[in-house]
Amino acid sequence: MKAATKSRQLYQHALKLIPGGVNSPVRACKSVGADPLFIQKAEGAVIVDADANRYIDYIGSWGPMILGHNHPAVLKAITRVLARGTSFGAPTDLEVELADMVVRAVPALDMVRMVNSGTEAAMSAIRLARGVTRRDLVVKFDGCYHGHADTLLVAAGSGVATLGIPGSPGVPRSIAGHTLSLPYNDSAGFEKLMREKGDRIAGVIVEPVAGNMGLVAPAPGFLETLRTLTAKHGAILIFDEVMTGFRVAYGGAQALYRIAPDLSCFGKIIGGGLPVGAYGGRQEIMAHIAPQGPVYQAGTLSGNPLAMAAGIATLKQLQKKGFYQKLEKKSARLVSGLAQAAAQAGIPVQVDHVGSMLGLFFCAAPVRSFEDAKTCDLKRFATFYRGMRAAGVYIAPSQFEALFLSAAHTNAHIDTTVAAAEKVLGRLGQAS
Ligand SMILES: *Cc1c(COP(=O)(O)O)cnc(C)c1O
Repeated sequence: MKAATKSRQLYQHALKLIPGGVNSPVRACKSVGADPLFIQKAEGAVIVDADANRYIDYIGSWGPMILGHNHPAVLKAITRVLARGTSFGAPTDLEVELADMVVRAVPALDMVRMVNSGTEAAMSAIRLARGVTRRDLVVKFDGCYHGHADTLLVAAGSGVATLGIPGSPGVPRSIAGHTLSLPYNDSAGFEKLMREKGDRIAGVIVEPVAGNMGLVAPAPGFLETLRTLTAKHGAILIFDEVMTGFRVAYGGAQALYRIAPDLSCFGKIIGGGLPVGAYGGRQEIMAHIAPQGPVYQAGTLSGNPLAMAAGIATLKQLQKKGFYQKLEKKSARLVSGLAQAAAQAGIPVQVDHVGSMLGLFFCAAPVRSFEDAKTCDLKRFATFYRGMRAAGVYIAPSQFEALFLSAAHTNAHIDTTVAAAEKVLGRLGQAS
C-alpha cells in the first residue's frame, strides 16, 4: 500500500473549496479517524484511489453497484444512448421501458414517477401521502434514513447518525413537529401511537430492511403490524426501498416479506450508477400526481436518457436466472468468515445479512434498533476500519452503514477479505 499522498493533497485543496472537502457527509472519514480516499477509477469489485492503491470495494457507491463497477453491458448502453444526446426535457422511449420494468418487478406498483435521487423520491412520496389523505403527520423510525428533506431529517440514520446529531439546524421546529419518530421494530409503540393519533397520520415511512443504522432486519411481525394498522386508520404505508429495491430481491423487500405497501421509493440500483430515484404505487394514489392530479412534483432532468439506459441495462442483468441466489451465497460466505474471525479473536460482534446487504456491529447483544446500535463499540469499529483499509479492503467509514456485495465479488475476493479481518481482529483482540 502506497502512502495516500495524492488523496491527501486533493483533500487539502477540497477542504478550501467544498464544505468538509466532500459533497456528501458520509464520504468523510472523520468518525473513524482517517482522511477520505479520492478515487481514480473502479472495475468490478476493485476500486482504485488517486495513488493507484487497489481495494476490494464493499461500499459499491453506497448501494447502486450491484453488478460491480464499470459493467460492460451498462457501459455499452450508456455509450449507445449518449450518441443520441444527453437530455431533451421531453419524454423518451427509455423512461417508458424502465417504468415498465420497475412496475413488473415490484408487486405493489401500478405506476411510477422517475426523479433524480432517493431524497426526491421519499420527499415526493410524503407529499403525495399528505395530499391524498389531507393529513399532515408523518411517522418514521429512529435510525432510518430517507434522504435529507426537512420532514425526514428527524432522528435520521446514515451520516446524521454518524455525526451524532438528533436533527439539523435549518429545519423549522414547526416542520419537524409534523414528524413523529419511533424506535425501529417497536410494534407495541406503533400500535399505541396509531390508537392515539391514527386518524391524523398521513403516512408511515420505513426502511423495510434498515440499512442506514448499520443493517437491522425487521423483526417478525413488525412490517405486518405497520401494514395492518395503516390500513385500519387510512394512513399511507410507504416502503423506502431506495436501498433494498432490486437489492434484497428483484422485487425488493416487499417481495421478500410478501407485504404490499401503498407507495414505494427507489433509487440507487435503478439508476445503475447514474442519478435516479423513483416512487410508485397503486394507480388510484399515483393518479393524484400532476399533471394527472393536483399534487405537484417535477424535474428538469427527470427520466434522463443516460440514467434510464443505465437502469435498464442493470435490471436486465438482474433478471438472469440465479442472480440473487449466487449473490446470497457469497454474502453468507463473507458473513460466516467474519463471524469466525471475530470469534477466534474473542471479539463480540453481530454480523448479519439480508441478501447482499451486510452489517457488522461491535456489540455483544443482537441489534434490533438504533438505540441498540448506539451501544456498540464505535472505537473498535474505527480501528477495524483503518486496519481493513490498510489491508486493501474498502468498507463504509461508519458502523451506521451497511456493506454491499456485488456480482463482481468472487470467492477469492471474499477469502482475501476474511483473511484481512482475521489479522485486524486478532490485533484488536490482543489490544483489549
Ligand atoms: C440512500 C437512501 C436515500 C437517499 O437517496 P439519495 O439518492 O442519496 O438522495 C433514501 N432512502 C434510503 C433508504 C437510502 O438508503
